[in-house]
Amino acid sequence: MGIRSFFSLFLLSVTIPYAMASDPSPLQDFCVAVNNPANALFVNGKFCKDPKLVTADDFFKSGFDKAGNTTNRIGSSVTAFNVDTLPGLNTLGISLVRIDYAPFGQNPPHTHPRATEGLIHFQFNPTRSKAVAFAALSSQNPGVITIANSVFGSKPAIDPIVLSKAFQLDVNVVKNLQTKF
Ligand code: MN
Repeated sequence: MGIRSFFSLFLLSVTIPYAMASDPSPLQDFCVAVNNPANALFVNGKFCKDPKLVTADDFFKSGFDKAGNTTNRIGSSVTAFNVDTLPGLNTLGISLVRIDYAPFGQNPPHTHPRATEGLIHFQFNPTRSKAVAFAALSSQNPGVITIANSVFGSKPAIDPIVLSKAFQLDVNVVKNLQTKF
């Protein structure tokens, strides 16, 4: 490989954009989250419970075996086990979700701002049977941005003329979509 090719390859490798997100590496073995910072420690994530007061229950949560209620307009239900529902996950950089799907249900296009499922993705159940999925995300608090909600349900609303042009839709179709979110 010539010096010019090497530098071209190097330049290409440092300029290619890519999406990647995750929590910072844990700085301690555990840091059970507490909402009240009195007598607690703040490292990264939420405040840490005093380690002398930590119990096994801080790392346990039941209910992952229970199906969520999918009788809604999209036909799915997400049960999240993250730092808000399982405090022992604080600073560990991981969380779990259970997603239940009704027949022909979907988890609509969405993205997670703080986890490696960073690109827009969705799931659709194309069968006449119920379905279930389990996923692990690379963040204690991955967050979720549902695309249709954030575009058509934005508060304050995005001007329908802007959305009409952006999505190449009739402005009345946009206005109708904005009433649904
Ligand atoms: Mn997802």
